[in-house]
Amino acid sequence: MATMITSECINCGACEPECPNNAISQADEIYVIDPLLCTECVGFHDYEACAAVCPVDCCVTDPNNVESEAALIGRARALHQDVAFSDGFESRFRKGADKAAPAAPAPKNAEAWPAPAEARAAAPAAVEPSNGHEPEILLPELPDMKAWKIPLRCYKCDQLYELPMSHFRIGNVVWCPHCHKSTVIKDDLNFRLRAELKEFYDRREKDLARLRAKRESELKAVRARHEAELRGFEARERQALEKVKARLSEISQGYDAPGTPAAKRNGPFGWG
Ligand code: SF4
Ligand code: SF4
Repeated sequence: MATMITSECINCGACEPECPNNAISQADEIYVIDPLLCTECVGFHDYEACAAVCPVDCCVTDPNNVESEAALIGRARALHQDVAFSDGFESRFRKGADKAAPAAPAPKNAEAWPAPAEARAAAPAAVEPSNGHEPEILLPELPDMKAWKIPLRCYKCDQLYELPMSHFRIGNVVWCPHCHKSTVIKDDLNFRLRAELKEFYDRREKDLARLRAKRESELKAVRARHEAELRGFEARERQALEKVKARLSEISQGYDAPGTPAAKRNGPFGWG
């Protein structure tokens, strides 16, 4: 599906420079995407760059324009003939395989940005079941990105209060619940907050995938070693069994039973 922009667009222009194909432009009322240029960022990102930065989530997939990954990379190759796309090109169809979303500038007062209430309250959640031998991976549960509440410090009374991320859009007026002083959001903090969170979520997903792959490969190696040890032990036990059988036979057949003729006992000449 090509990406399209819905009528909820607020003309902030954040998406336009992000498009690797220059598919986005400003039309009469809102920004629009040229479907003949959009590759859903296939070839460049494993996410749609415009959707990643849009503060109002109005860059969405067009259900009336379904396209395959092959068609989209074909378009990217046609549009960027100077770019050598390898077989491992980035694609939202194989999300998380390569690069993360671009990093946003770090907040100045990082210590004032605690996890949202939902995340703080949540008990650590097991993200993968224990196999009975391996310890579980326990991580704090993360809410949907839109559910985060961000602390803002009132410039008047210097108190902190929390606001949903969606309130941090340019031009929004917000009120301090302590002193009721209003302030206008001047920077597009919503974009920066979302970019920061997206980087965090993507990084965690990748690190988790890497950790799981490492654990799996180590477990595989241990299982292979155990298998080899087991087969070696079985082979040695089979040999030992054959040996003990032969030994039993040797003992029983060499037994000098009472009544055995002396000649037989001592050999053909009777002197042993
Ligand atoms: S999905 Fe990617 S290629 Fe398509 S318009 Fe958005 S940024 Fe451009
Ligand atoms: S980022 Fe979203 S709201 Fe801003 S111009 Fe692009 S589509 Fe419109």
